[in-house]
This record gives sequence, structure tokens and C-alpha cells, in this order.
Amino acid sequence: MITMKFGGTSVGDIPRLREVVYIVQSHMAKQPVVVASAMGGVTDVLLQTAQFAVQRETARVELSIAALKERHLQVANALVRHEERREELIRSHSLLFDELLNLYNGVGLLKELSVRSLDAIASFGEILSCTQLAAILTDSGIPAQFIDARMLVRTDAHFGEAAVDFAVTNENVRSFLMPLLKANVVPVITGFIGSTHDGLTTTLGRSGSDYTGSIVGAAMGSEEIWIWTDVDGVMTADPRHVTGATVLPQISYREAAEMSYFGAKVIHPKTMMPAIDNGIPIRIKNTFNPSHPGTLISRAANSTERVVKNVTSIDHLSLVAVEGNGMVGVPGVSARIFSALARVRVNVMMISQASSEHNVCVIIPQKDCHRAVEELRSEFETDIARKAVDDIKRQDDVSIVAVVGEGMRGVPGIAGKTFSAVAQANVNVVAIAQGSSELNISLVVNQCDANRAVQAIHDAFHLA
Ligand code: ADP
Ligand code: ASP
Ligand code: MG
Repeated sequence: MITMKFGGTSVGDIPRLREVVYIVQSHMAKQPVVVASAMGGVTDVLLQTAQFAVQRETARVELSIAALKERHLQVANALVRHEERREELIRSHSLLFDELLNLYNGVGLLKELSVRSLDAIASFGEILSCTQLAAILTDSGIPAQFIDARMLVRTDAHFGEAAVDFAVTNENVRSFLMPLLKANVVPVITGFIGSTHDGLTTTLGRSGSDYTGSIVGAAMGSEEIWIWTDVDGVMTADPRHVTGATVLPQISYREAAEMSYFGAKVIHPKTMMPAIDNGIPIRIKNTFNPSHPGTLISRAANSTERVVKNVTSIDHLSLVAVEGNGMVGVPGVSARIFSALARVRVNVMMISQASSEHNVCVIIPQKDCHRAVEELRSEFETDIARKAVDDIKRQDDVSIVAVVGEGMRGVPGIAGKTFSAVAQANVNVVAIAQGSSELNISLVVNQCDANRAVQAIHDAFHLA
């Protein structure tokens, strides 16, 4: 049994969808379970349109919906030949678009757009795409059934990036899907979305369909989880920004998690978790080039001589520094910083503390920075008043550049080589961190220098 997740590009247009049919068809012997994303770009349009709706820009809302409707209609007309089936698909899409318009109208009337409403709105992308894909597969002689993941994936109510309740979800997935597979029906499950115990729609975070793929694959005890995308696999760097990036044939779960956490957009960072627990290999494959073996992500250690495997960067971050003479040798300062940030739900991407203890800096998403600084100012109010701590400092528009590879462990000189490459590229390093696992070295640079730093490190380690 195999679980295949198809990303937005893979289900994004008529030729790609034909390829998806061919791929599913060629693996029927493996009893495929399919998870799919919204058509490429649709989630962005849905969310952008919500902004128009809350500003009561009705004409723009209607235009967006008309364009989405047309895009799906073209697919139905081209790929569902059986008339009744096509009519049924078009009818069900039409109802979905009416429902969506109602939601936008509601948002406009209330002039309020909560994260909860955004999740409800975003869910339409996957629902439209998967009803369509199930009809296309059936039309091509592959019995398939649309499955709304809100019936399977149980989450908490943390809208925008909900946490999965695995006990309930795993049980749901098995009891729903096993009978379908027994009947040789291919389930086509919406990625990205779930629901709370009282039935509210949630999402797993942007790009979360990868995660759904591995949640489903792990629950089913699939042999492998295949993530179909638009590149040949996980590469040594983001091919859009680095010249000479090459495909990595094999990486470990930890390397994949680390790379994706630090910005390798090809796979969602949470994807590895369910797979690790069950020891299921993940393969990244290209729908544009299906015969390419892709990248295998598994427990296995290095299969190449490479010490460093990947260089990534993540943008739109801020550095927040708490510093002052009164912090030296005082226990509990870091704890107070982290508790304050946790209270306002700010995720700390990286920390760095000089051994003098005079300064602790954290790197956080820039969108959360205002909230974080306010909370830290109130936490350290009395310390600031008695000058034990300086005012909280903030530097925006920084990036983390991360160098990742399991083979770095115990090998001297990696940090030296990294920093001299960056220096030669004339890039100033703002802060540094290396985890004791020695799986990665991360450095903070100004965002405008990030691509240059990544390219320089990529060249220095001969990853091309
Ligand atoms: P999908 O819609 O299939 O989920 P994504 O756009 O989310 O696809 O992810 C694939 C894209 O990730 C690639 O087109 C590539 O531009 C980008 N990318 C960023 N970093 C890497 C990397 N290290 N290896 C491969 N692709 C990467
Ligand atoms: N459609 C969702 C997004 O664009 C989820 C995904 O594609 O993985 O974020
Ligand atoms: Mg993706």
C-alpha cells in the first residue's frame, strides 16, 4: 500500500492532471491512497479575496470567484468526458462557490475576518480540487472517491495551524479508508484541512498538505509516502535562488526536518514526524519527470560522501535582543524571555547567547515582532527602570542561513569554512548558533545579503 500526495502544481492544470491520472494508474497494484492540494495558487486567491471581502470590495470578490469557477470548469470540460459525471461535478462545484460567496458576504457584513473564518475560506481550495480529481480518476476508469479530510483529521482549535489529535485521527483514517481499499477504490483526500471535535474547519498551516499525506500514510501503515511536486527532489539549495543546485538522492528524516524548518519549501517541516514514528520512507518525486528516482527520506544515514548537504535561508525575520549589565550571573533571565514569548504565542526560530551573559538574542518571525517586544518590555519593566536591563532592541529584515548535514558531526573545520565563505562574499554575520547535535550551523545575516551568503556557502562546499 502506498500514499501519494500531489501538490498544487501537480493538480494545477490540465496537462499535469493527465499526468496524475497516468501516475495513479501505473501504481494501482500498490493500492494507492491519494491526498491532494488545491490547484496551484488557489489558496492564495481565496485568502486574498477574503481581504477584499472584509473591505467590502464586492466587485473584486465576484471577479475572483468567477475566475476560480472558470478555472475549475475548464478542467471539468477537458477531463471529465462522461456527461452525467461532468454535470454532477459542475453542479457540486457551483454549490461550493455559492457557499463560498456566502462566507465572503458574511465577512463583509460583519467587517470582521478572523483566523477561524480564513480557515473555513481556505478549505474550499482542497475541496474543489479533490472533488474534481476523484471525478477525473473515475472518468479514466479508476474507481475513486472524494474524501473530505475534515471527517478524518481531528485537530485542536488553534486555527491557522492546528495541532492534530493522532489517537482520534489514526482511528478515523483506518476505519474510513480500509473498506475503500478492500473494494479497490482509490480514496482522494483533501490535504491541508481538518476539523475540531465540534466540527469547526481548521487548517494545518500553509503547505500543510504534505503533512496530511504523511498523517494518512502513517495511519494506514503505507509502505512509502510519495510527495509529488514540480522538482526532481530535495536539492542542495533552493533552485530559484542558487545556481548549480543539485538533487540529493537520499537524506535522513532529521536532515529533511532541519532543512524544511529553515526554509527548504519543498516539504512541510511537520511531514517527517508521523513517518519517523512508524519508520515509513518518504520519497519526493517530480510529476514533470516521473521516471526520476527523486529523493528518498528515511532513517538511513549518509549515502553520499557529502558532509554538508544543503544550504537554506529563511526570510522575514527579526532579531530581538535583551541585554544589560544586570543580567550577568542572574538565573532565570532566559526562562523569563521564553515564558514571555510563549505567552503571546511567538515561535522562537533561533537563540544565541554570548558567554558573558550580557546579551540574549532571539530570532522570530517579523510579523510577530511587535507583539513580542511589547510583552518583553512589560516582563522586564522593573529591570529596565532600574537600568539592569537596557531597552529591548529590535532589528528587522534579517534572515537565518542554515547549513545542514548529518555528516558534519565531529568533522572539524565546517564552521570555519562556512564563515570564511561568507566573509569572502562580503556579508556581515549578525549572530550565530550551532545546535549540540551538530546537524546544522545557523547564522543570521541581513535579508538583502541572504542569497549571496547561501550561494557562497553552496560554492565553498562544492554542492553543485
Ligand atoms: P507543491 O505545490 O508541490 O507542494 P511547493 O511549491 O510547495 O510545491 O514546493 C516545491 C518548490 O520548492 C520547488 O519548485 C522549489 O522551487 C522550492 N524549493 C525550495 N527549496 C528547495 C530545495 N532545497 N529543494 C527543492 N526545491 C526547493
Ligand atoms: N493549499 C495549501 C497552501 O497553499 C496547502 C498546500 O498546498 O500544501 O498552503
Ligand atoms: Mg508544498
